[in-house]
Amino acid sequence: MLPVSGRRLNGARGAATPRRWQNWARTESSDPALVLAPRSTDQVALAVRRAGETGHTVKAVGASHSFTSIAATDGVQLSMDRMRGLVSADPQRGRVTLRGGTRLWELPALLGPLGLALPNMGDIDRQSITGATQTGTHGTGLKFGGIATGIVGLELVTGTGDTIRIDADNYPELLPAAALGLGALGIVTEVTLQCVPRFLLQADEAPDQLDIVLAEFVERSRAADHFEFFWFPHTDTVRTKTNTRLPLDHGRAPLGKLSRFVDEELANNLAFGACVNLGAVTPRATPAVNRFVETLSSRRRYTDESHSVFVTHRRVHFREMEYAVPLEEVADTMRELRAMIERKRYSVSFPIEVRAAGADNLLLSTAHGRDSGYIAVHRYHRDRDLGYFRDAEAILAAHGGRPHWGKMHTLGAAELRERYPEFDRFATVRENLDPERVFRNDYLDRVLSI
Ligand SMILES: Cc1cc2nc3c(=O)[nH]c(=O)nc-3n(C[C@H](O)[C@H](O)[C@H](O)COP(=O)(O)OP(=O)(O)OC[C@H]3O[C@@H](n4cnc5c(N)ncnc54)[C@H](O)[C@@H]3O)c2cc1C
Repeated sequence: MLPVSGRRLNGARGAATPRRWQNWARTESSDPALVLAPRSTDQVALAVRRAGETGHTVKAVGASHSFTSIAATDGVQLSMDRMRGLVSADPQRGRVTLRGGTRLWELPALLGPLGLALPNMGDIDRQSITGATQTGTHGTGLKFGGIATGIVGLELVTGTGDTIRIDADNYPELLPAAALGLGALGIVTEVTLQCVPRFLLQADEAPDQLDIVLAEFVERSRAADHFEFFWFPHTDTVRTKTNTRLPLDHGRAPLGKLSRFVDEELANNLAFGACVNLGAVTPRATPAVNRFVETLSSRRRYTDESHSVFVTHRRVHFREMEYAVPLEEVADTMRELRAMIERKRYSVSFPIEVRAAGADNLLLSTAHGRDSGYIAVHRYHRDRDLGYFRDAEAILAAHGGRPHWGKMHTLGAAELRERYPEFDRFATVRENLDPERVFRNDYLDRVLSI
């Protein structure tokens, strides 16, 4: 029996109260007709078949951390929360198979005892492994791809309710589509990941000049294991973060509890939250506020387990748009963004984050076929004016940018088709795996067309 809430599949109301769904950023919401929390692949397959028979759509939801409506549904929502944990491990080959709903924050406890870790991570670890990989979640580092590039196999329940295994021996041609499939090809019940031996990261964080960092961005990104920077609009300075990979026996020199509290809780969350609130109420204060927030963070160096260094805690809610542009376009794109903010007199309280990732071959990866620079613009979730996003998007898109699938953007299928050489191949895979579009929603109709 599947745990259920909401209306029954035939439309009649069940005893349980319908559950309104909302994403983390509070930018999207929907009213699923039914919420199911399957415990097994068989239960997922049953739910997909039943939904198909009764004319309902199905959408899995991970941690609801996408800024877009990619996870929204008014059909059957499958919460993957009861499908978490380790299925099996092959420590010799450094591979683990995880249940599809496993959260990234659970991985250190699951992989650590096996001597393994993810090769790279993004800014946070709240996401589910499948939500993160289906949308192309990435960190920074030109020698690395997004998390989905580490998928060597998966188990998928297709639109017909069939369960298939995709890996080097079974339907290998489907892997470049299914590893990063926007949730459009099926429900991923298991993921097999290629991991690396556990490692340490030495983090060097320092202030620098925007002009210098832009001029040296490609060079610094190539030289470092992981390089990124944050620029607070209305200032000339940036904060750079350079992470260097070290073997486990090098020894940790972690941040003290007090230092972590002052830098992360005080600067990133408490003071920052108060400041962006002030900026939202009094936009003219924003440039001064940005200069103040910047002074809160100091130069620091520390060494710790990789996941502790990659991941930060973000509790101030915001909206985000991120585009991947060809690596060499980063500096010009950033200069145009700066000029636009000045010309339009936008007061922007959130930093712009700039990262890089290596080219990969996943069909709908934002880094497909090219080394990429990622430029992310943010707005406090209470800021009403979206003109900044509109103007930023025009610049990012004009530089050949590809929008992150889980972050705000306005592109549709026609524009995306021009940006992805394998777009039609993905459409063919979708036609085969979900001919009746059981997994469709409004977002997929827009970006892939019906
Ligand atoms: C504070 C914050 C920080 C972030 N930092 C980064 C970052 O550093 N780098 C980056 O690239 N992105 C980042 N993101 C974006 C985030 O990683 C993606 O949006 C990711 O999809 C969220 O994972 P989720 O588990 O919440 O997925 P959801 O938002 O719940 O779902 C995303 C998609 O995956 C599908 N899906 C989920 N589970 C399954 C399943 N089992 N089978 C099939 N489809 C499934 C859903 O249907 C939906 O289409 C950040 C987001 C936030 C809110």
